[in-house]
Amino acid sequence: MDFEVNLGFVLGVGLRFSLPVCSVYSMPGGYLVAMSPTKLMRWLTCPTFGYLDERWEPTGPWTPNRLLGMMMHTAINASLTHQDAPGSTLRELDRGYPTDEEPVWTKEALLTLINKALPKVLGVIENFGESFLASELTIGDGRVDLVTQREQDKGQPLVVTDFKTSLQLSTYLATKNMAEAQSDWQLLDYTWRVSEYYQKPVIARRRVLIVLTPQVKVYCETFDTTTTLDMWRRTMLKEEAYVESLKDLPLADLPMRTTNCYGRYGKCRFYEFCWIAGKDEQRAGGLYNHRRIESI
Ligand code: SF4
Repeated sequence: MDFEVNLGFVLGVGLRFSLPVCSVYSMPGGYLVAMSPTKLMRWLTCPTFGYLDERWEPTGPWTPNRLLGMMMHTAINASLTHQDAPGSTLRELDRGYPTDEEPVWTKEALLTLINKALPKVLGVIENFGESFLASELTIGDGRVDLVTQREQDKGQPLVVTDFKTSLQLSTYLATKNMAEAQSDWQLLDYTWRVSEYYQKPVIARRRVLIVLTPQVKVYCETFDTTTTLDMWRRTMLKEEAYVESLKDLPLADLPMRTTNCYGRYGKCRFYEFCWIAGKDEQRAGGLYNHRRIESI
């Protein structure tokens, strides 16, 4: 089954494509891809973590990191698709800003950060010299930030770009983050989904990292995809089947990857849940709240 989409809101190019949708979910042998890459990675990092992250969050003051990421995505998407970027960003801010506490970061301060960064990010995207195909493209449980096309190359291959936003990050950590993007599971997953969705080769995958303070910095790294995608896909099938085999187990029976209890940013956010409350959901109640927003 095909459907046609008008993508006439291009960075300088108007395009119309016929997209095969049935192939999106089907894998060899009819395997169904059901899980978002972020959720799958949490379960692979530690099955106990995967379970807890879907249901619980640590108590503590609100931080704006996740909201800033969502605002940045909204602002980029609205700009590229010629929608009302300031209005859309403000609506995203209103949706995600807490109403039951007074955060350190005011709404005005958050908007200022996004407005300062947006022109720089759009400038970086324009410099890619690629035609816009889609942004915030939902394929199954994955949402791809940006898909572009290299019109000048043979076969007009595609490029998948993923945006990450950070309130603050040292140059050392930003550089490390960019190097690690080459083996980033989520980016590989999105690349694969896009190649299935469009039934076209994806020649490259790219990470754009936006650091908002103390000054706006935009990092960008592009990786060749031609030799890695099939290798990753074979692994993904095995890993997803493994996680599916665990998903109905009770918390007490889920494996604990103790090598990940302490990571590069310090201890796991469910450390007390496991090592103080002994994975007892009644006992952990004072230290953790039931999740208010669905984990993505
Ligand atoms: S503290 Fe360790 S065992 Fe518990 S969820 Fe985190 S990584 Fe898993």
